[in-house]
Order: sequence, then C-alpha cells, then structure tokens
Amino acid sequence: MRPLIAIIAVAALAAIATMASVARSGPVALPGLPSPTPKVWEWPSAAPTEQPMRAHPHLLSGFVIPVGGVDVPAEEQYLPNSERAYRAGYHEGIDFPVTAGAPVLAAKSGTILRIDGAFTDWTAADEQKAFDAALALGYTPSATLDQIRGRQVWIDHGDGIVTRYAHLSAVAPLRVGDAVTQGQVIGAVGSSGYPEGGPHLHLEIRVGDDFYGDGLPLPQLRYAISVAFR
Ligand SMILES: [Zn+2]
Repeated sequence: MRPLIAIIAVAALAAIATMASVARSGPVALPGLPSPTPKVWEWPSAAPTEQPMRAHPHLLSGFVIPVGGVDVPAEEQYLPNSERAYRAGYHEGIDFPVTAGAPVLAAKSGTILRIDGAFTDWTAADEQKAFDAALALGYTPSATLDQIRGRQVWIDHGDGIVTRYAHLSAVAPLRVGDAVTQGQVIGAVGSSGYPEGGPHLHLEIRVGDDFYGDGLPLPQLRYAISVAFR
C-alpha cells in the first residue's frame, strides 16, 4: 500500500475505531489507574514463587491492549523471550494475531517518538541475507531487528518507558512530538518487515535499553504482563 493511500485509509478507520473502542471498553481514562511512574518491583502474595526471579527494576501497569477484541496471548511463542531460531535470537515483544487493517491503539498516553509515514520494506532477498548473517553471528543485530519490525510507531511514556508497534500496514497522520492519548488510533495492523509471520501486531514495551520481561521465567513473565494490562 502506498503511504498516501495508507494514511487516508487509517484516517477513515480512525473515527470508526475510536467509537468502537469506546463502545467496547468504556471510557479510556479508567479511574484508579496507577500513576504512569513505574512502581518499584515488588511481589504481591499472589506472585509466583516456585522459580528464582531475575532482578527486574520495574513492574509496570496501566496499559490497554492495543488492538480490539483480543486478550494477551497465552501461547509462549507470542511472548517475550521465546526463541526465534531462524535469526538466532529471541522475541522482545508480545504478538497479537489479528486481521490485517485492524486499528492499532496507543497502549498508554504519551508522545510520538517515531512514526514511519514514509516506509520502504526490504526485499525477500535482503531479508534472507540478513537472517543468514544473523545465524553466522549467533545473534540478531539491532539493525536487522529494526528491519524485521517493518513499519513502526514508537510512543514515549516518560521515565524511560517506550512502546513500539511493529509490522504496521499504515500509520495515522501524526508527527514526532505529537501527544497521543490512551486508546487513540495510531496505525493499522499489517505484516510489514516479516510477511512470513502473517498479519499481527507486535508490541514491545521498552524499559530503558531493555524490553519488559527480559529473562523472566515464564510464570513471572505471565504475571508481569498481566499486571501491565490490568
Ligand atoms: Zn513479534
């Protein structure tokens, strides 16, 4: 899809999607949401304790699921830390398999940090070349990860917290520095950067240079994610 057409398509979707989002989940500014300042990592009594826990600076909360009609996926392969053997790496986000073109919503209020209004996908040959190089290295270089994420929007939430929305088919007519509110439409689901994965939204919650959940054993990871979205 050409960028201009893509932007128009998203703009047309935006009004409908906003209405649908409000109708589905009620007011976006939920009462009782914690402050956006990350809490110190602390485990309520309900937290899993059967496995040693890697030290993690923050337990985050107050995000909404950035696509309609789905919950956080249960399958480990869609969660952070799952292996990606084809590029000798690990997943750094949460995958939400949804229909292509579905509106993508800001998971939390913030400021646009990156928005790929103009975007050219890599060729299948360049993609394969990069995967071969990653396999030879034994890890996925960050530039390759960026190409795999395809057309992206990044939102800065302050305090080192950034959300990344990847594989988009289109982006909303927004610019770097624009304020966005939680639930606002910022783009549309696609499969740019990694067509083999089919249409899905890849969401990364970045905490400084790290990704949320990095290295956590699965029970703690599920717990940390459930706290983020409740
Ligand atoms: Zn992903």
